[in-house]
Amino acid sequence: MADKIVANRMDREFLAHKEEYEAAAIRVLRSGWYIMGKELSAFEEEFAEYTGAKYSVGVGNGLDALWIAFRVLGIGAGDEVIVQANTYIASVMGITINGATPIFVEPDEYHCIDVNRIEEKITDKTKAILVVHLYGQATDMTKVMEIASKYNLKVVEDCAQAHGACWDGRPVGTWGDIGCFSFYPTKNLGAYGDAGAITTNDGKLAEDVRVFRNYGSEKKYYNKVVGTNSRLDEMQAALLRVKLGHMDAITKERCDIAGRYLEGIRNDCIKLPAVADKATSVWHQFVIMSDYRDEIIEYLNDNDIGSIIHYPIPPHLSEAYGYLGYTKGAFPVTEKYANQVLSIPMYTGMTADEQDRVIEVLNGFVPKN
Ligand SMILES: *Cc1c(COP(=O)(O)O)cnc(C)c1O
Repeated sequence: MADKIVANRMDREFLAHKEEYEAAAIRVLRSGWYIMGKELSAFEEEFAEYTGAKYSVGVGNGLDALWIAFRVLGIGAGDEVIVQANTYIASVMGITINGATPIFVEPDEYHCIDVNRIEEKITDKTKAILVVHLYGQATDMTKVMEIASKYNLKVVEDCAQAHGACWDGRPVGTWGDIGCFSFYPTKNLGAYGDAGAITTNDGKLAEDVRVFRNYGSEKKYYNKVVGTNSRLDEMQAALLRVKLGHMDAITKERCDIAGRYLEGIRNDCIKLPAVADKATSVWHQFVIMSDYRDEIIEYLNDNDIGSIIHYPIPPHLSEAYGYLGYTKGAFPVTEKYANQVLSIPMYTGMTADEQDRVIEVLNGFVPKN
């Protein structure tokens, strides 16, 4: 039998450009400079150019990008931030680390925030909307920005899964006040360790993040504010520069993989993902839905195919957020998605043969009960 097809793997992209990555790593090792140097400055410039934002500032990881974003926007205790209920828990922690309260909104059929249900959640405590471009698809930013401007709210974009995705031709991370990116190894633009960045068109906010991430110091040993230590190191910056050079090809490849799945998977028990007219997806995940989700996981497993649930427990039902007081049934759409979603194998470097096998196996699925 052929090798197991795992849900995600990071080695294929590395191996395809091994010499380039290894040369970058050796360059950093031999440079004698490992934190806050030329590689980071160069990456920040290149990443800003890639996203179309005026500024990009590297930080330690995606969660840091989120909580630092809310911190420099002055959002904390007593404030409310609107966020979709069906997100990765880091989005919510970015809000609550600062003492602010997450106000959950149900998702739409694209797994993004249902923009028609935002306004009913706005109170006089609402300070911001956190948009999550989940699974790689851009959210309806036209509508989000319209609501934000009507109620004078800040907008933060969680772009951790959507590097390069666009709404109405404009890239994510350039719509709101701040865009937050993760370069966790499994992300489309993944580093070889932890890394993250923010993007913004506001020079003051960029400077505030730049100062905050490095102990609040503008100049060595002169500390303006009580900041934190969240720096994107030279090794990761150098490796990310290599991958960024391949990003257009990576995105195209993932779109091709998604296209093959969309064309090939035909099974009445399986609902395929859809992309909104004005959105593009960079296909961070390929998420199917089914009433028979748990049976499909087992069946795939029996056929040596991996899969992952993103995410089995919505933040409002997690133990961590028990203090918010939500119970089952609070967000029925979100909870239904949590019971039905399944991410099937999707990774840069996936072969056509591997895809054919996934398609064939899925098409052969018949529920037992
Ligand atoms: C990965 C991810 C994060 C957190 O990024 P880290 O780099 O792991 O801290 C935040 N939000 C979303 C939607 C993510 O997928």
